Amino acid sequence: MALIVQKYGGTSVGNPERIKNVARRVAEYRRRGDKVVVVVSAMSGVTDGLIKMAKEIMPLPSEREMDMLLATGEQTTIALTAIALHSLGVPAVSMTGAQAGIITDGVHTKAKIRNITPKKVHGFLDGGNVVIVAGFQGETPEGQITTLGRGGSDLTAIALAAALKADLCQIYTDVDGVYTADPRIVPTARKLPEVSYDEMLELASLGAKVMQSRSVEFAKKFGVVFEVRSSLNDNPGTIVKEETKNMEDVVIRGVALDKNQAKVTLVAVPDKPGVASRIFKALAEANINVDMIVQNISHGTGTPSTDLSFTVEKADLLKAEKVIASLKAEVGFSQSIATDKIGKLSIVGVGMRSHSGVAAKMFETLAREKVNIDMISTSEIKISVVIDLAKGEQAMRAVHTAFIG
Ligand code: ADP
Ligand code: ASP
Ligand code: MG
Repeated sequence: MALIVQKYGGTSVGNPERIKNVARRVAEYRRRGDKVVVVVSAMSGVTDGLIKMAKEIMPLPSEREMDMLLATGEQTTIALTAIALHSLGVPAVSMTGAQAGIITDGVHTKAKIRNITPKKVHGFLDGGNVVIVAGFQGETPEGQITTLGRGGSDLTAIALAAALKADLCQIYTDVDGVYTADPRIVPTARKLPEVSYDEMLELASLGAKVMQSRSVEFAKKFGVVFEVRSSLNDNPGTIVKEETKNMEDVVIRGVALDKNQAKVTLVAVPDKPGVASRIFKALAEANINVDMIVQNISHGTGTPSTDLSFTVEKADLLKAEKVIASLKAEVGFSQSIATDKIGKLSIVGVGMRSHSGVAAKMFETLAREKVNIDMISTSEIKISVVIDLAKGEQAMRAVHTAFIG
């Protein structure tokens, strides 16, 4: 008898028929004698719809209230999934994140899990129930409802699998597994039978939204092996696990495009010690994650100044602009320019460590496509470029063809 954690994403629970389909799959595992914990997301489109409604009322709503609002999406699905299991004669109990013992810090809308005490989950499992836990949510030690960042149901599943010492963790979604690129954009993308935590982490944080990047980080830290597979068929999925020796034979494992980035440029920033630290400290204090930073060489005479560009998530752009505006007088730059018409295109592979010429090939491919490179950043196993959003998908296909086929 195994303990299995299964997570079903938004499309997989997108309507009552799909929820019944999930219930049938869960019932099948339970019939084999397995203990099953099911984590579900909000039905597809629900979280976006709730955000849209709040923003129609106010562009920058209180983050505490956003968490209160967004947590309702998953709460709807847990109850419907429990009802679907009952309709098949399977005992099932739904639980909110808080009821499942998921305790987080107090950073509303992107809270981190501090610990999980799944005592009640064990209790219900021991009583013969399937336990259905609301993804994406938790509570602070003071009892405030929090959410774990977009795509956070993946994290709920992986963290629960670790806390429950589950034998198996399955992430059910609307594609057959992790592909070399988003199959919706690159028709020639191939399914990967396995991928290392580090590659999956890079792909996820660089835009392959098939897994939330923080969930992969958590899986790596706690050694949770998981499978990404489809809720719509029985095809084998992709196993995400520790790197093995032969993985370095492949230079580029995948290509990702992040359309959710925005860029802020501060023009004529005084070029003197302490300025960058002041700017990025203020952004960090507002819990804004800054990704790439590029500083141009100072030009001109008089007080040296420089242009400073950085990228943030689109969702944080308004907040970042507000922080920057509040620093204008103190820091003394001439203006700030923001755009969300950028895409970040990345190639990822542990094989990059032992192969050279990878960057040159990527840049040549982009030049051939007449795609201008705005910013570049690299790590041991990835190269990212910021380009014009309008050319993002075309560039992604070209780079995929050049490296993978
Ligand atoms: P869920 O609602 O199940 O969490 P998501 O929409 O968050 O599903 O993630 C699944 C989607 O991720 C797929 O439909 C696919 O378009 C996209 N995706 C992006 N990159 C990849 C990739 N490399 N492999 C597979 N899917 C990808
Ligand atoms: N419902 C949340 C979102 O749309 C969490 C998730 O789907 O994983 O981001
Ligand atoms: Mg998701």
